[in-house]
Amino acid sequence: MSKKRVLITGAAGFLGSHLCDRFIQEDYEVIGMDNLITGSLKNIEHLFKLKDFTFYEHDVTKFVHVSGPVHYILHFASPASPIDYLKIPIQTLKVGSLGTHNLLGLAKAKNATILVASTSEIYGDPLVHPQREDYWGNVNPVGPRGVYDEAKRFQEAMTMAYHTFHGVDTRILRIFNTYGPRMRLNDGRALPAFIGQALRGEDLTVFGDGSQTRSFCYVDDLIEGIYRLLLSDYVHPVNMGNPQEITIKEFAVEILKLTGVDQKIIYKPLPKDDPAQRKPDITLARNLFGWEPKVSRSEGLKITYDYFKTLPRDAWYESEHYDFSKYIRK
Ligand code: UDP
Repeated sequence: MSKKRVLITGAAGFLGSHLCDRFIQEDYEVIGMDNLITGSLKNIEHLFKLKDFTFYEHDVTKFVHVSGPVHYILHFASPASPIDYLKIPIQTLKVGSLGTHNLLGLAKAKNATILVASTSEIYGDPLVHPQREDYWGNVNPVGPRGVYDEAKRFQEAMTMAYHTFHGVDTRILRIFNTYGPRMRLNDGRALPAFIGQALRGEDLTVFGDGSQTRSFCYVDDLIEGIYRLLLSDYVHPVNMGNPQEITIKEFAVEILKLTGVDQKIIYKPLPKDDPAQRKPDITLARNLFGWEPKVSRSEGLKITYDYFKTLPRDAWYESEHYDFSKYIRK
């Protein structure tokens, strides 16, 4: 019997590349797609030699064509860090809206199940803590994060509409802060920022007084949850993340301890609309799939630090120059 085919958008990104690995492991045929604005082919380099992996360099805000059957679509293409939203706000809005529309159209045409990557950002700066799926959020549509938050809120609405109106088999996953190998050291988010600073011998920059909280989930736990959600039949939004909450200042101290460096913490202004607290309520995922994170922060941080430490030194200073053009199908 021929293998099930899965299309993964954002395949060269952090989560997308881990998903490609997982679906290859599960014996699927994987079609990766990415426009490489924020993704890096370095993340999927090891897959190019496999016959069950194909990569297309394509921007999903343009019509998406895939020949042959497609059984599953995982829509993970999007800039995902606050500094990316500031640098590429229009693309961020377009991939969550037009891109989602194209992929829902493809799912309908191919009779595929589609899972869209939504986010804890749809809760904005939450007034309810921890956040459950039935909380509607507190988002500033015209703030710096609005381009991401509103695109993802639109994405959820569009996905639900394709489910109710066209009967497309859909899944909506609300992802909370996730970390692990293959994040971009220069993507501006707290964990790669702190580890990068530690490696380069710089002081760690905490924004505000560092009392804002986040809850960090190790990537393998999330990927397991995505796999279970996709293969379930649950069409309403599901939170996934690690409910272990920590202040950003404590988090910076943990990174200093882990890396053993003697740099200081310095304080910078808090970015506008930076959520004061964030922690998922994962009761729903627990009840539906028996899912919960297994990797502790100390284990996950160690694996992640080891990954960054062993990157070529110039990667700590950001630029990556690899020529993968021969592997790409335009
Ligand atoms: N942050 C920080 N220093 C940095 C980068 C981020 O203190 O160099 C803070 C940021 O203001 C936020 C938290 O760390 O309160 C998590 O930020 P991140 O960008 O990782 O993700 P967010 O959850 O805000 O989308």
